[in-house]
Order: sequence, then structure tokens, then C-alpha cells
Amino acid sequence: VSVKQIVEADLTWTGLRFESGVRIAVNERGRIAGAGPLATEPTRRLTGMALLPGFVNVHSHAFQRGLRGQGESFPAGKGSFWTWREAMYRLVAGLDESGFHRLSLQAFGEMLDAGITTVGEFHYFHHSKNGTDFALDDVVLDAAVEAGIRIALLQSYYATGGVGRPLEGAQRRFDAVSLDAFWKQMDRLDGLADPTIQTLGVAPHSIRAAGPEEIELLYAEASRRGYVFHIHVEEQPKEIDEALAVYGRRPLEILTDVLPTTERVTAIHCTQSDPRDLSRYLEAGGGVGTCPLTEGNLGDGIPGALPLMHSSRRLSLGSDSNARISMLEEMRWLEYGQRLATKSRGVITGPDATVAPALLEIATAGGAAALNVPAGRIEAGRWADFVTVDLAHPSLAGCGAGTLPGALAFGAGNDVIAETCVGGRWRVSRSRLR
Ligand SMILES: [Zn+2]
Repeated sequence: VSVKQIVEADLTWTGLRFESGVRIAVNERGRIAGAGPLATEPTRRLTGMALLPGFVNVHSHAFQRGLRGQGESFPAGKGSFWTWREAMYRLVAGLDESGFHRLSLQAFGEMLDAGITTVGEFHYFHHSKNGTDFALDDVVLDAAVEAGIRIALLQSYYATGGVGRPLEGAQRRFDAVSLDAFWKQMDRLDGLADPTIQTLGVAPHSIRAAGPEEIELLYAEASRRGYVFHIHVEEQPKEIDEALAVYGRRPLEILTDVLPTTERVTAIHCTQSDPRDLSRYLEAGGGVGTCPLTEGNLGDGIPGALPLMHSSRRLSLGSDSNARISMLEEMRWLEYGQRLATKSRGVITGPDATVAPALLEIATAGGAAALNVPAGRIEAGRWADFVTVDLAHPSLAGCGAGTLPGALAFGAGNDVIAETCVGGRWRVSRSRLR
């Protein structure tokens, strides 16, 4: 496999720090062939730029981009996750395939502008208005290709409208139909997916939407096929109350009880999780994906057990409802939520006792591990997925290699993002084109 480009920015993130003089060889298959002080002159010299691995967004529902700016008035008094969900169901009821395509494309394009090069699309909205045809599965894959973003399609299994309740209204467009129908569709998607930019995973929506037996069976087959396994867990107290009423156990307890290991699992949210349940789940190999901006927007709360999740080194970040798409802000609010809740600073720290490198690790390598996508680090064999930032941007003025991580994490927005590269293919951020 021959080398196609040699990339060199002024500064390159090597995992713990920014370094100069790092050249990255990218092969014709879009993978990193080598990185370091290579002798070959760069074919792409990025002057005035810093380069990092592209951000990995582990949890998105792209179509919810259609709710941007909506649902922020509360004439009947305070709203909640559940009143927001009604607005989301109204959006679902009105969307046809072209509307769904437009919103997906919009979200994925905005993710690239935010430096996100891989999205874990937790895809539960399967059917067109006319029946159970899984037509929107193809649409979401096509929209990702059109935008140029790497996608892990986390095909969601949705069978009940609440613990033990049938699907109703808009939820019928999420219907997994049966375990057989689900795996048949996975076979079909596996045949469609372009392995250079698309992978698949399995995602029972939640304990509200899939029972313990189904979750157990889905995990067994997902393991056999080598898929990652994502599920919403304990975002809201109501979900815990319902599970306790029906199963006598909390959702995270059920998950850890029914699965032989949680190694493939990324539990999304765990906002309300009990530290004992979480410890047991993490010890069995599980990871957690949190979505600070969405959890803030929906009033879910601040995950009390976040330091525990972080100590497992299996933490990742997602943009979830896409009310705002910015990995820099997700990173910032992961730490800020904890600072506000604990009245202390430096909660999410790395091996060198600094915050920003730990946040960058979570937003890159942490996400790549949760999606089992070889990206998230500048390392031979991984995808050539990068983001570059403009060192001349006013918000980064005065920063050097040492202060840049902190400036990105706490003092910068999407407008510092200059370009992204997905599998060796470069794209200029739209904030630079105006
Ligand atoms: Zn979600």
C-alpha cells in the first residue's frame, strides 16, 4: 500500500501533548502509515495550524436536529424530559424520507464543522410513514456518505412503548418488529455498508423499549458477530422506578445481571445511576457515554458517579439531541458540571493531573474505543481522521504548545476548527468559507 500524502502541522497532538516536527504518512487506503520525525518532505504543510485526531461523537440522533431552537417555551410551567419527548414525537410524526434525509445531512455537516469525524448514530427511527419498511436505515447511511463523515450505525431495537407496554402513535415508526426481522435487516445493512467509512453496532433502545430476555439474546448474537452494544441507561428517575416496579431491579443492575460480560457495552447517560450498580457494571468491562449538553438541555441532572466512570478509562461523549453540536463544549461541560456540583476544580484529570488532555482523550480515543473504530489517535494502522485548528484565531492568540489544550477545552468554540480529514479526504469547515 503506497503512501499518498505526508501531513505536517505546526503542532500535532500526540496523546499527551502538542509537539512540533511531527509528520504523518497517510496511505492510499486512508490509513495512517506512520507518524513522527519522518524524513520525507510534507505534501501538505499546514502552516499556522495545530492537528489533532478527529473528535468521535459516540451518541447522536441526527434527525433531532429538527428541534433546534424549539421547545424552549413553557406556558404550562416547568417542562421535563417527558414534555420534550412529546415535541420529538410530533417531529417524528411529520417527517417523511426526504425530511429525514435533510435533517440527517444537516446534522452530519454541522458535526464535521465541529471537528467530529466519526459519529455513533443511535438509529431508532426506522420506518417511512407507510409501514414497516426500514426505509430510513438506508437514508441515514446515505446522508453520512453524502456529508463525508465516518458512521457507526448503531441499529436500535425498539419493541415496547414503556416497560411492558405496546408501541403507540409515533413510536410505531421505531418498531423492531421481531428479533428475526432485526437480524435480517442487520444482514441487509451489512451487505450495504462500505467498510472504509461505515460500520454497524447493536443498540436496544433502553430497558423501557426492550425486555431483559431480548437484551440477553441481542447481546449474544452481537458478540458472535463482533458488534458493539449501546443502550440508554438511567437518564431519568422514572425509568428506574418503572424497572423497579416490574423487575424489582434497576436498569443497570438488570443489564449487568443478564449479560455474561459488559465488555462490548456502552451505557448512554447513567445520570441517575447508583455508584454500587455502576461499579459492578464497570468491573464487568462496561463503558459509559455521557452527553453533557443534552443532559443540561433536558434537565436530566449531573451524573453524580462521573468520577467513577472516568476512573474506568472507558468514558466517551455524545451530542445526543443535537440541540447544540460542539465537542469542545461537551468536553468543557463534562468538567464544568462536576465543578458546579462539587464546588471544586480538576475533577476529570489525566495521568499528569491536568484536565484538558484527559478531556481530549475522552473526546477522541475514548469515543473510538466505544464504537470499536480504529481512529482517535495519531498512530500507524488507524484511520487518517484529523481535525485542524487555526492558531491565528483570536480566541487562541497568545497560546503555545503548553497552553493550547486548556485553551481549546475552556476558551474556544467551533470557529477555531479549520478543516477535518476523514480517511485521508480533507474538508474545509464552513465557518472558514463565509
Ligand atoms: Zn439518546
